[in-house]
Amino acid sequence: MSTELEIEGVGITELADRYGTPLFVYDGGELAGRMSRLRRELHDSMEVFFSLKSNPNVSILAVLHDNGARAEVSSLAELRTARRGGVEPNDIIFLGPGKSQAELEACLDEDIAAIVCESFGELALIDRLAAARGVRARVALRVNPSFAVKGSGLTMGGKPRQFGMDEEQLFAAEDLVSRHANVRIMGVQVYMGTRILSEESVVENTTRIFALAEQLSARLGFGLDLVDVGGGLGVAYFDGERDLDLDLLTSRLNPVIDEFATRHPDTRLVMELGRYLTAMSGTYVVRVRYVKTSLGQNFAVADGGTNHHMAAVGIGSYVKRDFPMRLLNRIDEPATETWQITGPLCTPNDVLGKKIPLPPVRPGDLIGVERSGAYGPSASPVLFLSHGYPAEVLVHDGQSYVISERDQPEDLLRRQHLHRLPVPAVEG
Ligand SMILES: *Cc1c(COP(=O)(O)O)cnc(C)c1O
Repeated sequence: MSTELEIEGVGITELADRYGTPLFVYDGGELAGRMSRLRRELHDSMEVFFSLKSNPNVSILAVLHDNGARAEVSSLAELRTARRGGVEPNDIIFLGPGKSQAELEACLDEDIAAIVCESFGELALIDRLAAARGVRARVALRVNPSFAVKGSGLTMGGKPRQFGMDEEQLFAAEDLVSRHANVRIMGVQVYMGTRILSEESVVENTTRIFALAEQLSARLGFGLDLVDVGGGLGVAYFDGERDLDLDLLTSRLNPVIDEFATRHPDTRLVMELGRYLTAMSGTYVVRVRYVKTSLGQNFAVADGGTNHHMAAVGIGSYVKRDFPMRLLNRIDEPATETWQITGPLCTPNDVLGKKIPLPPVRPGDLIGVERSGAYGPSASPVLFLSHGYPAEVLVHDGQSYVISERDQPEDLLRRQHLHRLPVPAVEG
């Protein structure tokens, strides 16, 4: 007898049989524990805002919120999700380079903590919308800094970007506050990049962002009600990567936070985290349909692929790098072979894993892509070949709960309308 993976006391075969595959399974204890441990170790003055972009599910948001997270949102649906999950407007910020008028109006009507403004044009629009409502909009300026810090998977600073306002332009905009009478410029936000796996980089980013916020507020003459130091903390996915050491990180970061918080006791300090909070808790579970060999290589063709997990193709790299994957229904069997794990799409790019060490694989086996709770289906081409969204299940303490339903063909067809064009009669 072979052992199978259990998540919070529930066997993976039971979950796969009950809910079908492909399936996203979230470990509720891991999710809650991740947030509560961060909350315990991070300096009290630093508030953690969950970036819904990484996983927009209301139950995921609610678990994180119940353990101390606030919300960072970038669309009307994300704003509604945060409210539905119980986050108070005062604990929500809205961010994004292309906000619509309707989104900005919702921010003002809901009276959220701050709109993070990304362009001078947006600032002018916020000013007009606030004037029409007779309110003063709370706005934090997103700065595209002139510096970049290495150690991030995707660096933001020091480059031409559609995000934020260039540091140089802001320092030159001396009448920015007086020109916008209906806006209370009250903070600064900087986001340095995603997938940061170096404690040192996080500390250096934060130090520089604090300094920039002080300089900018002094130069333009606004108060610092809020400083948002971004975040972008990563998790290790690939060979050669190592997870952040939270003890090490907080032992270096907390003194930097403490120093700033002591000088600015009334300033809210914000860190935005997506991947760091959700990635570890999620497993993408696919069932093997066929096994075959091609030119000497083993292929396991599964019922789900990159249509639900685009990141598994190998985030931001031209060379395919494999996410951690394993056979879930026989976890104690030694990996003696190398397998390609592919999905149902009719494209050679639909490869979840390229060189995965596994025991001999059989049809019906369950394979899991681990650390997959962030940027899963919502960041994947789920409509490709019209397979739609997979089911998502949250497991806690021996119980499982559907938190997002699997798309059925009717769900996908409902959005389409059949219009035929008249066919010209054939002459003669
Ligand atoms: C995407 C994004 C985040 C979340 O990034 P993670 O790497 O998932 O933590 C936070 N802030 C901004 C501005 C973002 O664009």
